[in-house]
Amino acid sequence: MSAARFRFYAELNDFLPDESRGKELTRYFSVSGPVKDVVESFGVPHTEVDLVLANGMPVDFSYRVFDGDRVSVYPVFESLDISSVTRIRPAPLRALRFLLDVPVGRLAAYLRVAGFDALYDNQASDAELASIVAREGRVLLTRDRYLLMRTAVDHGYWVRSTEPRQQLLEVVRRFDLAGSMRPFTRCLACNTILEVANREAVLERLPPKIMDKDVFRICPSCQRVYWEGSHYERMSKLLRWVKANAPAPPVA
Ligand SMILES: [Zn+2]
Repeated sequence: MSAARFRFYAELNDFLPDESRGKELTRYFSVSGPVKDVVESFGVPHTEVDLVLANGMPVDFSYRVFDGDRVSVYPVFESLDISSVTRIRPAPLRALRFLLDVPVGRLAAYLRVAGFDALYDNQASDAELASIVAREGRVLLTRDRYLLMRTAVDHGYWVRSTEPRQQLLEVVRRFDLAGSMRPFTRCLACNTILEVANREAVLERLPPKIMDKDVFRICPSCQRVYWEGSHYERMSKLLRWVKANAPAPPVA
């Protein structure tokens, strides 16, 4: 029987049982397998991992674990300076687009309020979600860590919080999005980019109490009309709170 020792750093410990956190863990095996599979056998999805060191040297997910190996597994944004070594995730996505699964549906609406492309499909099976992610190059946001272990999922994030506002803050922090919010530019219902509406054209379809509003936006896809009402105030407050609590972008 062969044995390798693993250590998981920082928030990767969220996936481990209490008694295993922050400790060196020994994995016994008879057949050497890729480090991706061994890491996931601890319950840690590969999408959460940014760097793997085997005996102090960076390796990629296909690296086969050998008897006596010491493996260090780091999450994204671990404070260790890893700029000089190769990260193992595929190249970063240029414009972030998200796909959310059912238990984080409310988060999809909040991401849309902030202007981010957030697809949400409560009909799709796990296999369909994984294939949409692969096909469209989206980042999968989920509470289901096993969904993130699918090979088709290159980019994903396991949402820790169960509270939607905290979830939004988490995602903005994780992907450093505080500076790229475009509030109220996307349809909350269908994710389409809104257009500025012709005031006269929309007014006749709206209740009289909002006649005094100046700015209207319309969804070219589902024809919903948006204006600066009480919902707008609440959401503005939420986005201000997120911005204030997300860390400042790193200084280059
Ligand atoms: Zn729409």
